[in-house]
Amino acid sequence: MRPDASSPHRPPADWALTGVSRLVTMAPHLPGAVGTLGVIAHGALAARAGRILWVGPEAALTEAVDLAGATRLEAGGCAVLPGFVDSHTHFVFAGDRAEEFHLRHAGVSYEELARQGRGILSTVRATRAASEEELRALARVRLRGFATHGTTTVEGKTGYGLDVASETRCLAVMGELAREPGLPTIIPTFLGAHTLPPEYRADPRDRERYVDLVIEEMLPAFAGQARFCDVFCERGAFTVEEARRILERARTLGYALKLHANQLGPSGGARLAAELGATSADHLDFATDAELDLLREAGVVGTLLPGCSFTLSAPYPSGRRLRDRGVRVALATDFNPGTSYCENMQLIVALAVSAMGMTLEEALIAATRGGARALDLEREIGSLEPGKRCDLVLLDTPDERALAYHFGVNLVARTILGGQVYTAL
Ligand SMILES: [Zn+2]
Repeated sequence: MRPDASSPHRPPADWALTGVSRLVTMAPHLPGAVGTLGVIAHGALAARAGRILWVGPEAALTEAVDLAGATRLEAGGCAVLPGFVDSHTHFVFAGDRAEEFHLRHAGVSYEELARQGRGILSTVRATRAASEEELRALARVRLRGFATHGTTTVEGKTGYGLDVASETRCLAVMGELAREPGLPTIIPTFLGAHTLPPEYRADPRDRERYVDLVIEEMLPAFAGQARFCDVFCERGAFTVEEARRILERARTLGYALKLHANQLGPSGGARLAAELGATSADHLDFATDAELDLLREAGVVGTLLPGCSFTLSAPYPSGRRLRDRGVRVALATDFNPGTSYCENMQLIVALAVSAMGMTLEEALIAATRGGARALDLEREIGSLEPGKRCDLVLLDTPDERALAYHFGVNLVARTILGGQVYTAL
């Protein structure tokens, strides 16, 4: 250590992490970082005010930063990664659909389940009936679940309210939880065009009335509260023309754009995402090579959601195909009560490796930097580099290659949110 502790060449840190076996920076250009994941063996990290200040070999830490007064965390030989960025979830809702899940797997048809009043509209009913306080309590528990499994940023969509008052309440819940300390960062998305609400299904002209409501009342009301506008562009949900009307209006109001595209069939959503310059197109199970080329050329991130395939016993989207066509890939949970009730990005990484033709390196990049890109937050999160948020995951194993291999368990020992150790209640 240098004798002059107040050297101007050594910026003061208020937090430092040592005892790391492998510091997986996701920043291969950093000095001393090795391989596509930018691994620094026996790496260390220093932070100040929740931001990463320095990353490098532990042997160089005390020469690089002033640690007087810094809180120290000893990792005890853990591998350390950036926190997972879950760029596609629907975590604000009430109700429970476990029974529906099991009936579906027992062979009851979708039509029969809908006739029994199950499906997405049952979540809409329960969400509308819940108070803001109830919704906030439910959402808070789920956010804690994300953090416990190593996720430090969670995108959250509205879309189970589907009227002005209920969508307002869901956005208010996300806004309030975003200000609560000790929870993952929340990025709110307005998804008023998730499905047609029950009161707009009687008359064919109701479709247009609801799209008008989204465009003329909801979008202006929520501008500034939701960062993104998303549309479920699929047969049985909203058409390409309806999605275009909504998203073009959203863009003029300052929203960035996302699309649920080509999940259940060739919806045309992927092409529209490229045309409108959306930040991401999500699902893409049925995107053609030509559509993937359009997404690549437009710089749209392709977000893959294997939790849906797992839940619906459906074929998995091919991560390999997106990579081969040069599309930037993100992986996310699609946490929702109907088709992917899973807040664990470690399982999503495992599915990407076992069922989607992705290497562990590709899957981890997609679950961190890829997610950051899918939220337009690449400069803030997704890798361990000076200036970014100090959002980390400490695994309870010395080597990150246990991920995907050792599956079905939580390998996260600790989650660090903005330089603070997350404490589960
Ligand atoms: Zn979704």
